[in-house]
Amino acid sequence: MRAVAYVVMLWCLACAAGGAAAAQEMKPKQVDIQYVEPKDAALRPVFEQIRKARALEKIQTLLAPLRLPRRLLIKTEGCDGVSNAWYEEDAITVCYEYLDDIWKNVPAEQSAEIAPVDALLGPLVDVFLHEVGHAVFDYWKTPLLGREEDAADQFSTFIMLQLGKDEARRLILGNAYQYKGDVRSPVVVQSMRKFSDVHGTPSQRYYNVLCLAYGADPVLFGDFVASGKLPKDRAEGCEFEYQQVANAFERLVVPNLDPELRQELHKTWLPPVDTQPARRSDRAGWRRLLRRN
Ligand SMILES: [Zn+2]
Repeated sequence: MRAVAYVVMLWCLACAAGGAAAAQEMKPKQVDIQYVEPKDAALRPVFEQIRKARALEKIQTLLAPLRLPRRLLIKTEGCDGVSNAWYEEDAITVCYEYLDDIWKNVPAEQSAEIAPVDALLGPLVDVFLHEVGHAVFDYWKTPLLGREEDAADQFSTFIMLQLGKDEARRLILGNAYQYKGDVRSPVVVQSMRKFSDVHGTPSQRYYNVLCLAYGADPVLFGDFVASGKLPKDRAEGCEFEYQQVANAFERLVVPNLDPELRQELHKTWLPPVDTQPARRSDRAGWRRLLRRN
């Protein structure tokens, strides 16, 4: 009797373990994409541009090595006038309104500060990668000691920094460009309430991007300190900050990447820097991209 009970118990344990393993089978190429047609005619130009540029297909290729226990949908969609992006229940939604705001902020001409195409691509890649950060933390049940919003920003910036030097720099400049509104005015007045937000303030997020980049490569991004963009006090610790993120990435992200697919990713990924993005017909001044979850 006892032996039978023992065998039954062992079998049940095996069942449970088998069930858990099946439920948690981690596979690469789990990302689905969808361009949802907007109902609002005003969003049609941005919908068509994004689709024509095959933006979601490119993001999908970049994310192919992620091993996930179930599928993840990334979609662009009209949001009834709300300019935002979020991750919820195995799906990332990036609103056309948000993408349109990024487009509106693209400068007409190349300047010493930024190339038009990079002003478009930096914030665009960042919004997807930031939301993917939230998604994978949920899928992998990643332990986080700090704020999840900071971790999602670090996830995005760190991936940008793994591309080739030229492309990493272009994406970082573009990423930082989205916080330009606060950076231009030397004194930022914020209501106390703003500091209760789960996100860092735009200025903090701006300095975090510069610091991580400088910490990754103090030569490539040395001008951030030389020009005073990144204050020396902060810059001193940036190499350590970068190492901290690199260590977390190595422990928490890399084990969940498919090594072969990762090797296949190209380090050159962006269109040439002198590519002139399509002009948006209605540009009404620079917009702050604040409403991203
Ligand atoms: Zn977020």
